[in-house]
Amino acid sequence: MAMDTLPASDQRRLDELYEYIDTQSKTFIGYPCSQQFDYTPLFRFLNYPINNVGDPYAPSSYRVNTKEIEREVIQWFAELTHADEKGYWGYVTNGGTEGNLYGLYLARELLASGMVYYSEHTHYSVSKNLRLLQMPNIMIRTLSSGEIDYEDLYETIRIHRDRPPIIFTNVGTTMQQGVDDIPRITSMVHELAIPQFYIHCDAALGGMILPFIANAPTWDFSAGIDSLSISGHKFIGSPIPCGIVLAQKRHVDRIARSIEYVGTLDTTITGSRNGITPLFLWYAIRKYGIEGFRRMAQQCIATAEYAVEAFERIGIQAWRNPFSVTVVFPKPLDTVQKKWQIAVQGQIGHIITMQHVTRSMIDELVADIEAASVGEPVK
Ligand SMILES: *Cc1c(COP(=O)(O)O)cnc(C)c1O
Repeated sequence: MAMDTLPASDQRRLDELYEYIDTQSKTFIGYPCSQQFDYTPLFRFLNYPINNVGDPYAPSSYRVNTKEIEREVIQWFAELTHADEKGYWGYVTNGGTEGNLYGLYLARELLASGMVYYSEHTHYSVSKNLRLLQMPNIMIRTLSSGEIDYEDLYETIRIHRDRPPIIFTNVGTTMQQGVDDIPRITSMVHELAIPQFYIHCDAALGGMILPFIANAPTWDFSAGIDSLSISGHKFIGSPIPCGIVLAQKRHVDRIARSIEYVGTLDTTITGSRNGITPLFLWYAIRKYGIEGFRRMAQQCIATAEYAVEAFERIGIQAWRNPFSVTVVFPKPLDTVQKKWQIAVQGQIGHIITMQHVTRSMIDELVADIEAASVGEPVK
């Protein structure tokens, strides 16, 4: 008979680990992941080997799956991002990185002689993915807002106008949440009379914020993009990393056909795929809906405004981009950085005011920065 409990020493390890995680979560302010979620009603599904192997739209003989729910999730995101009602395709990924890899993969299959342009502040995983896909690429300068330097982009595309441009854009860069002006980029390409091009949009965080803010810039399929990636564990929140990728269906069909030739419809990057995360996303979407997410986005932005003011009160120059929940400030001292799990890059640090970040957390952080600056220990 198998024992249903672990030895006491292993139980203790689990208890200690739980304590550790719980403690760390109290100062979790440096990363764009919401901690405000509750999927308890879904726990019963964890008792099954759920697997959404392969294409979410293709039938599978592996029937312990949640593909129907996954398709509803994708449809919701398609509507949110103004994809053509019948002309989109997508799936639930294991995070923003996979969605970006997918967009680049599609672009490479469509434009074999393409040249990838991406800005200096693009997520670190992208240069690795470009190596993985062996795609020729050029890094473009960034403006101080984190946006791509449009003039540098224009000049660089112009010089290489014999190669179809594949432009990797950001709707919310990692460090400063800079939002690229996608309509400006598309008109740039038209101005250069370039017939073939591809635009992918990395909207890891911004893709779940911009749609809920009045007067936000146009960025999605309505701006003529070819594919986009949004993280699920960031704004929506999930104990398991996840995300979605959406692309023009006609692009995916071209790839699918070539793979059908070798006998399968293997359209996704991984074979076995998580069937639990689509369920989490579906649950959050049904629970909050557009209105709920709108309230959340407004609340997060209000907290970000509060943080900028709190920093300014102690004489620290902090700023944020419009529509952004990322507050940028000079890199704090090590003790503060460590306690608050603050991500730094060069001379700057940032906090991200996700749903679980309270004003009292900000007050405590600001007090810690003030104390550390006059040499008092940070508790
Ligand atoms: C977080 C992030 C990614 C990577 O997403 P994961 O979900 O962590 O894989 C990519 N791009 C940007 C701008 C991000 O902020």
